[in-house]
Amino acid sequence: MISTVTTIRDLRTTLLGWREAGETVALVPTMGALHQGHKVLVETAGKMAKRAVTSIFLNPLQFGPKEDLAKYPRSLEADQKLLSEAGCDLLYAPTPADMYPPDFAAKIDPGPLGTILEGAARPGHFTGVVTVVIKLLLQTMPDIALFGEKDYQQLLIIHRAVRDLDLPIHIVGVPIVRDTDGLAFSSRNVYLSPDERKCAVALPNTLQETAATIREGKDIAAALKTGQDKLTKAGFTVDYLELADAHTLAPTRTLTGPARLLAAAKIGATRLIDNLAVAG
Ligand code: AMP
Repeated sequence: MISTVTTIRDLRTTLLGWREAGETVALVPTMGALHQGHKVLVETAGKMAKRAVTSIFLNPLQFGPKEDLAKYPRSLEADQKLLSEAGCDLLYAPTPADMYPPDFAAKIDPGPLGTILEGAARPGHFTGVVTVVIKLLLQTMPDIALFGEKDYQQLLIIHRAVRDLDLPIHIVGVPIVRDTDGLAFSSRNVYLSPDERKCAVALPNTLQETAATIREGKDIAAALKTGQDKLTKAGFTVDYLELADAHTLAPTRTLTGPARLLAAAKIGATRLIDNLAVAG
């Protein structure tokens, strides 16, 4: 069974022992309901540092009032098993009361990157994300912290915040881990009915097809419109399908440098996100 701590004090005691032994530490922040994508992050952490720590904290601050916090999947025992198999050295699972005492007030503003795409669809989401991630980083003070490209905008925002706040922590982005049919693993995939799960493959397929069309030099606005129509036909309600500069996430209609195709769409009650590098 994986060694588990729930308080900052116990976390720091364990870390102090490792630091005194000269060991490096990698942190993988998660919200639990762990899957193969998380497993790859933890395995990568174990390769990049002597000690791999995973945090599980279902962060209320990043959920809107109408979002799925109450029904978000929870599976601590299965998560502990997966973490043991992935070679994780320590699970840090703080309680909401410890993370957010009743008079908690200080929050971190993610800046303009936090208000577009996912930030426009989910107001306040990235303030919640960056606040909890910076707290977890300060509590753990790892050498490196790993995040999935699955949440590409989140990765960029965390990168920027860590740089802006001068935290001496190396942020590592890990490529998206996908199921055999191409759907990105996500804790939210368990919400999908068998029929919805079949239709959901249209999301990665549409990203691939749209990216290929754009790479061929076809009109980008038309390619995005075709992609949106394909998603709608497959049963999705599209929040956005956007081509953006890979560093600034500014929408672009020309392919002059690294760009990323990003999508968010709902199938039934389940909102899925995905993205793909188009150039660079
Ligand atoms: P979550 O538990 O959803 O907050 O995710 C925790 C971390 O795992 C985040 O850095 C995610 O980007 C990453 N992650 C989630 N799903 C995947 C995936 N399919 N491939 C790679 N990373 C992922």
